[in-house]
Amino acid sequence: FYATTSAIPGVGERTLIAVKPDGVQRRLVGQIVQRFEQRGFKLVGLKMVKAPEELLSQHYHDLRKKPFYPNLLRYMHSGPVVAMVWEGHNVVRTSRLMVGDTNPAEAHPGTVRGDFSIHISRNVIHASDSVEGAQREIQLWFNCTELLDWVCCDHSNTYQL
Ligand code: GDP
Ligand code: MG
Repeated sequence: FYATTSAIPGVGERTLIAVKPDGVQRRLVGQIVQRFEQRGFKLVGLKMVKAPEELLSQHYHDLRKKPFYPNLLRYMHSGPVVAMVWEGHNVVRTSRLMVGDTNPAEAHPGTVRGDFSIHISRNVIHASDSVEGAQREIQLWFNCTELLDWVCCDHSNTYQL
């Protein structure tokens, strides 16, 4: 029988990953999706959107007082974003490690930001930074009919079921 991932403790954790407008413009979507797939995470939602300003202001609510906030919203609204929900054990923490430091100058080679970006204002990708934050962001970006709870048939190669 195939266990659904949600039956294994912790394996149903989800995070929001988004390829920002610079990443889409630079045709990095495929390489970024590939990194999460090859790590073993399960894609449960994906869409391309021109994010409404209302959505972006909620998404970056905590940063609204920062001096870079107006430019951040303008950048995120400047073109399409590819928003994704990835699922798996520890996916929030592991994806932050895969994405690298917020400032690309500090991001290690091998991370998305460390391989594909130079400046903090054009750092290619978003990843939720906590499990609670991920739940909040996923609800903002996706409605529940857009998230698929499908069975990954080779899960025994990724987890001890
Ligand atoms: P993240 O979770 O690693 O994306 O970092 P934050 O949540 O702290 O910030 C959100 C986004 O705002 C970052 O990914 C950057 O695009 C941008 N940002 C953060 N700090 C700065 C800054 O000091 N200067 C500029 N120009 N942009 C920043
Ligand atoms: Mg953040």
